[in-house]
Amino acid sequence: MLHPRIRIAAVQKDTDFTEITPTAGISVEQHGGRAKCLQRLIRLDLPVPKTVALSTACVERISASHVPDITELMTIFGEAPLLSARPSSQDPDWGGPRAVLNIGMTAARHVRLVKTHGELAANALYLRFIHSYSVHVARLDPDMFEMPKDPTAAALQAMLAAYTIETDEEFPQDPARQLSEVLRSMARAWGGTTARLLRQAKGAPVDAGLGLVVQEMALGVGAGSCGSGVIQFVDVVTGLPQIKGRYLDQSQGRDALRAGEEAMFLTRDLRGPSFEDQNPAAFEALKKAGGIIRKRLREEMQVEFTIENSNLRILDAVRLPRGARADVRIAVSLATDGIIPREEALLRIPPRALSELLHRQVDPSGPRDVFCRGIAASPGAATGRIVFSATAAQASAARGEDCILVRRETTPEDIRGMHAAIGVLTERGGMTSHAAVIARGLGVPCIVGASELSLGIRDTSFTVKGRTFSAGDIITLDGTTGEVLAGSAEMLPPALDDAFQTLLTWADDVRDIGVRANADTPTDARMARSFAAQGIGLCRTEHMFFEDDRLTVMREMIFADASDDRRAALARLLPMQRADFKELFEIMSGLPVCIRLFDPPLHEFLPSSRDGMREMAEALDLPLSDVTRRIEALSEFNPMLGMRGVRLGITVPEIYDMQARAIFEATVEASENGAPIVPEIMIPLVSAMREVELVKSRIDAVAAAVRIEKKTDFTYKLGVMVETPRAALRAGDIARHAAFLSFGTNDLTQMTYGLSRDDAGRFMSAYVQQGVYPEDPFHMLDTDGVGELLQIGAERGKAARKDVVLSICGEHGGNPESIAFCRNAGFDYVSCSPFRVPVARLAAAQAALLDPRVKSVDKNNIIHI
Ligand code: PEP
Ligand code: MG
Repeated sequence: MLHPRIRIAAVQKDTDFTEITPTAGISVEQHGGRAKCLQRLIRLDLPVPKTVALSTACVERISASHVPDITELMTIFGEAPLLSARPSSQDPDWGGPRAVLNIGMTAARHVRLVKTHGELAANALYLRFIHSYSVHVARLDPDMFEMPKDPTAAALQAMLAAYTIETDEEFPQDPARQLSEVLRSMARAWGGTTARLLRQAKGAPVDAGLGLVVQEMALGVGAGSCGSGVIQFVDVVTGLPQIKGRYLDQSQGRDALRAGEEAMFLTRDLRGPSFEDQNPAAFEALKKAGGIIRKRLREEMQVEFTIENSNLRILDAVRLPRGARADVRIAVSLATDGIIPREEALLRIPPRALSELLHRQVDPSGPRDVFCRGIAASPGAATGRIVFSATAAQASAARGEDCILVRRETTPEDIRGMHAAIGVLTERGGMTSHAAVIARGLGVPCIVGASELSLGIRDTSFTVKGRTFSAGDIITLDGTTGEVLAGSAEMLPPALDDAFQTLLTWADDVRDIGVRANADTPTDARMARSFAAQGIGLCRTEHMFFEDDRLTVMREMIFADASDDRRAALARLLPMQRADFKELFEIMSGLPVCIRLFDPPLHEFLPSSRDGMREMAEALDLPLSDVTRRIEALSEFNPMLGMRGVRLGITVPEIYDMQARAIFEATVEASENGAPIVPEIMIPLVSAMREVELVKSRIDAVAAAVRIEKKTDFTYKLGVMVETPRAALRAGDIARHAAFLSFGTNDLTQMTYGLSRDDAGRFMSAYVQQGVYPEDPFHMLDTDGVGELLQIGAERGKAARKDVVLSICGEHGGNPESIAFCRNAGFDYVSCSPFRVPVARLAAAQAALLDPRVKSVDKNNIIHI
């Protein structure tokens, strides 16, 4: 990926080819990254062979058969040169055609090389060129041109003969023709469908061009000490300093990396001979060059080098390919060493990559037996035995066995099973479906919308592509890629090391938007604190009622006919809720905690299966028929748009009364031991100002009562969750009664699109594939539509009440793009699942650093606008 660094494109006339000198007009945009990198190496006075860069415009013309004056190009290299040609795309990650070495090898050149370098070396070079030319340029059958083990004269003759048989002509003996054919085939390969799709998958624009570089060969074969190798100075997985690579005598290009045991270690090694021992002076020169390259190119590079008669030549340097963990350490150590500023280190790390460090990962270098794919809803990897029900998951956890809960979709009844499982896989659902939201909160790897599973309600196995998996079988979830693997897999551990912590501390220094966590339980809250969240932005209280001892009381409350009976049941829940809140306040001590009042439809607390209903009848001592009848009576055609949120708060006010009392009593108790607590109470699903007025007056009354009973004073903030389009449009009215507005973009997206967040997964990929939506709007904030509502809500809310605090607490709160959007819209903070807090901290820092309004960041990291 390109770093988000600002590049100033040198605007200059397009010339077909340019010799790379320290002052030549070479730019990444016109000639590609490799050409620019080679110019930097040349400017550092490193021993780089003569190189010419062909511009992307020239390469485009070559692919249309307008080849530039090759003879003129070749004269730059003097008489009868041997050359290599390599791709130079703007970003090395975009790939490109293979390099071709030893262009210019002809029969005449071979004769001369036999004299200067010996017969075997001359044969090896010629063979290698014929092989590359035949397979990659003339596109002949590779089986006919296998490289022989020994470069004998007979092998050379056989390969030349094979070329003649396959093409009906002699192997080309004109170096200019060889070069022009090589360049044409490389230019055309760039336009091939596979190459195009591969680079687009890595973020290349549709019209990405290719530059080429032609370089004088440093032979690496011949008399004296000759060979080639590749060196890097840090480990690709950890980023820790370590010299790695290989060197191979009498070789070229990247041969050393492919050679296996024949290749030498670079540094002294007990396992075998080393380049350091064999050629200490060249090794020292190479190390010194590596240090200069790191410092001046401001990057950890992998360097390709050749030794020609004991002399070091540096052919190429590419940004070291690496994983996220190494990426963080490299950026931090470059900044710590003063090579790049901290701000640049912050901008170099894609925020989402951090979530890779927070969880175990499937080792990308290991084998993967992928049998199905879904939406990667919660990152990390888990291997366990398949279970098909929450009860089985709990039983498995009790036996100490890791399990993966596989369900058609999850409901609140599955929460205990999700806690017990180490991974969750569902056939249905999207990024904000129940399974996805809960799993992200728990930090459990999760894949949803794996539609190939086709599970029945009572299924105890599933079949995908002819393979059947039953309860007890071992599978692995890769929640980062959305792949489900059969069996277990090699894992990389999480990496919350010092480099990770340092980077995030730097991020906190520059960001100017707060980051809180969505946390429902003490475990979530502790996790949020450990990731340095600045408080809880959303505590979904309903999850607290699914504990075993509470569910029955909750059900009694739901079934109560009269207000007094309801109050009696709620009175039994009160101490439990009070204890919940007190614990949260204590864990988050000193930080704000925003508690959302009860939100879901009541039927979510009632069983859906016959067995569940029977159990409930027993627990409540009611006839089964009574239970079924009442459950039916509570069912709604469209529960997500029905009796939930504030609508329940107004029609069954005892629930909110109890919750408010629990919050205030916990506030008093927790404040006794520490600093006074100012709880934030949030009303869900508001669509009209009057709803807020009604709830506010009851909560004020509860607060007054608790103050009198406890003979103490406290304050609290009442706010509104803006998650219906009407609430966004009427934010001005609503803000008059609300100290804060928190945008619930999950429901707001659902209602703006009229799209069920639990069912959208069924057609979302078809919609995205056909470009109906650019992205899943539950995953990426729809800035055009839902975003406009956010902007309207923010503007109207602020206009009516200047000090109203604005935030987002839907799943989008953890997305880098939404964070930049919310910051621009003047939001005070974002709130997201604890495991996304580090991502949000870095994304918020990047949003501040990339804000075009930011003029400078001073030495105290104060942003000046
Ligand atoms: C929302 O709707 O965005 C939200 C945060 O609430 P929930 O996901 O609990 O509906
Ligand atoms: Mg909601």
